[in-house]
Amino acid sequence: MRIDVVSIFPAFLDVLDLSLIGRAREDGLIDLRVHDLRDWAHDRHRTVDDTPLGGGAGMVMRPDVWGEALDAVLADGAEVPGGPETPGGALGAGRAVLLIPTPAGEVFTQRTAEDLAGADRLIVACGRYEGIDSRVPRHYAARGIEVRELSIGDYVLNGGEAAAIVMIEAIARLLPGVLGNPASVVEESHSALGLLEHEALTRPVAWRGLDAPEVLLSGDHARIARARRDEAIARTAARRPDMIRALDPTTLDSQDRAA
Ligand code: SAM
Repeated sequence: MRIDVVSIFPAFLDVLDLSLIGRAREDGLIDLRVHDLRDWAHDRHRTVDDTPLGGGAGMVMRPDVWGEALDAVLADGAEVPGGPETPGGALGAGRAVLLIPTPAGEVFTQRTAEDLAGADRLIVACGRYEGIDSRVPRHYAARGIEVRELSIGDYVLNGGEAAAIVMIEAIARLLPGVLGNPASVVEESHSALGLLEHEALTRPVAWRGLDAPEVLLSGDHARIARARRDEAIARTAARRPDMIRALDPTTLDSQDRAA
């Protein structure tokens, strides 16, 4: 997957050099490129913002600077499906998504991550100040580009970079080969099973007066699976009753229903 991130703080994205995502980049599973929005500014102060039309607090990111930046990034990438954009406006074969982090967007969930993991190319536009001029997403959507304005939660950050890192990590770990054990993503919290994952324990079996449940030492895989599922359901009910209410009843077995 090719991922382009445009930001006025490109160094913010350096953390994506680390850990599993860093290794996926080294292995060529992810081609991540970070661009400085100010490279597309024209004045000597490299200005990317202006006062809000209609007045009010703060500054808004200029659509003309973003337009030049995104046109250039979209026009690049002939080697990847989903790019480049042809002069007629159509994208190459494949799926490219322009992702705009914003607290006013649709909420990013594990389902969104799964969907976006199927794209060939992501272009992430990181806002700052009061955000990016609202005509930018509208313009690219009208050009036939898939635009997703996404929020990582109901709170406000100073900029889109931290949100971009969250989304890129959640998406990239779903790509084949990125995680050592692909089974890890199947039964996790927020997977398609609709439950939080059961609690995780390791050695020592007894620690500071807290003993691990005996069943985990039994070697009886069916009993362990049952105990874990019961614990996952109880935990989800206690912590996220909204998830229990949203469960598809057909995914429950008879012992779940008895519980
Ligand atoms: N004035 C905007 C509003 O009230 O909707 C908030 C702008 S915020 C201070 C600046 C930038 O941070 C946004 O353009 C976006 O890129 C990013 N951001 C802030 N909170 C976010 C969230 N919950 N999810 C995704 N991006 C967020």
